[in-house]
Amino acid sequence: MSLISKSQASLLTLSRYHVSKYVSKVRRYSEIKKKCYDIVVIGGGIVGSASARELILQHPGLKIALIEKEKRFAFHQSGNNSGVIHAGIYYKPGSLKAKLCVEGLNLSYKYLDDKQIKYSKCGKLIVATDRSEVGRLLDLYERGVKNGVKDLKLLDSKEIKELEPHCNGLQAIWSPHTGIVDWGVVTKSYVSDFEKCGGDSYLNFELNRFFESENAEYPVTITNSKDKTIHAKYVLTCCGLQSDTVAVLTGCPEEPKIIPFRGEYLYLVPEKSNLIKANIYPVPDPRFPFLGVHATPRIDGRVILGPNAILAFCKEGYKWTDLNVKELKEIINFSGFRKMALKYAGFGLKEMSRSLMTPLQVMQLQKYIQDITTKDVESGPAGVRAQAMGKDGTLIEDFVFDSKPGSGAIGSRVLHCRNAPSPGATSSLAIAKMIADKMKQEFKL
Ligand SMILES: Cc1cc2nc3c(=O)[nH]c(=O)nc-3n(C[C@H](O)[C@H](O)[C@H](O)COP(=O)(O)OP(=O)(O)OC[C@H]3O[C@@H](n4cnc5c(N)ncnc54)[C@H](O)[C@@H]3O)c2cc1C
Repeated sequence: MSLISKSQASLLTLSRYHVSKYVSKVRRYSEIKKKCYDIVVIGGGIVGSASARELILQHPGLKIALIEKEKRFAFHQSGNNSGVIHAGIYYKPGSLKAKLCVEGLNLSYKYLDDKQIKYSKCGKLIVATDRSEVGRLLDLYERGVKNGVKDLKLLDSKEIKELEPHCNGLQAIWSPHTGIVDWGVVTKSYVSDFEKCGGDSYLNFELNRFFESENAEYPVTITNSKDKTIHAKYVLTCCGLQSDTVAVLTGCPEEPKIIPFRGEYLYLVPEKSNLIKANIYPVPDPRFPFLGVHATPRIDGRVILGPNAILAFCKEGYKWTDLNVKELKEIINFSGFRKMALKYAGFGLKEMSRSLMTPLQVMQLQKYIQDITTKDVESGPAGVRAQAMGKDGTLIEDFVFDSKPGSGAIGSRVLHCRNAPSPGATSSLAIAKMIADKMKQEFKL
């Protein structure tokens, strides 16, 4: 005999149904809640990672996430660069770049000491090999002094030889505080600090859309290519080579447009690594401060020679064969690129021929290190530089931030770091402080 009547049984089924619906609602809510953040930082390069770290240090009570599209942090520029801790000599006095580099160098050395990350303060020579370069070298020296770069010295050819026996030059600037480090290792260390402070990081999460959700508390919804979502009160994007594409997603203008320039390096064969002790750089052409093949010892003991600067056929084009037709079309259709290409076609062709013919690249180096021959080099790594460019073809040298002013959640809660050029790695801790201050001010954190 049944202990409960039919009506009691259906009542029980009904309440079970309600309880399970309630439980699944609570579960769904807590799942969503897990993916709700006060701040989401997009881009796990050195700038995004340093900023996420700084934000959580300044606001330990906030829930913060760091999102990266690749399978590891520092996958692009931050893990594929020259590895130099720059002193701040080149940059226009008073510019943000000059200030952040000098500040960043000091913060970096302190950080590297605290974390016991391997680095070497091997110094840097900027060498004039031709009389026509001496005037520019002296101007650079003045700039460095104005920027507050410590202990710069002018050397004559005998003093150059004493420091670097295989280097020839008429005159040089010696910067003793320039150093080398693996910036990829530093990026991962910033991420680890961030996680230890309670931050959540997500790899393989490629942001592909922002939209305004109905959740008044977390109104910015971010989705990825696999339809996963994360909800945020505020967002910071630091997407390097993709910074223009990502900014456009929130209604920002296309400019500054990112034009990808591949920088290819050669390796000095290990038997010849002893030819180079410090960083040895030529005097830069003021029109293209990032051009000029230099010799740089690496923290792993190898010496890299380069980079050149060649238009990459896609944003993440590390090889000649990497091609994305859509991205290449976008580059070619951009009026700024066409203007620049017309003006400096000669430079571009020279850089391309040096890429294809190693002896031409070696000839550049022989100007100041005659003992290097083509037999002493082998092909090395490459990095792709995110060169920000205006509509008129000007190369944008300083930092650019963007948001879409307006009352909507997307416009008023997303900040894009659109340009963090070299020496972005050296300056990363100083950039992070500036970004955290900016977010505090703009978003009243
Ligand atoms: C060849 C070369 C040499 C250089 N040498 C030096 C040097 O010696 N010293 C120095 O201080 N600086 C140097 N720099 C500059 C320095 O590397 C950069 O300024 C710095 O790495 C920029 O960091 P970032 O975080 O802005 O960019 P990145 O390191 O490029 O990081 C951006 C990140 O955003 C991610 N991302 C993009 N889109 C999305 C998306 N939709 N969703 C999720 N994630 C996304 C990318 O995968 C990437 O990891 C060099 C640069 C190059 C290219």
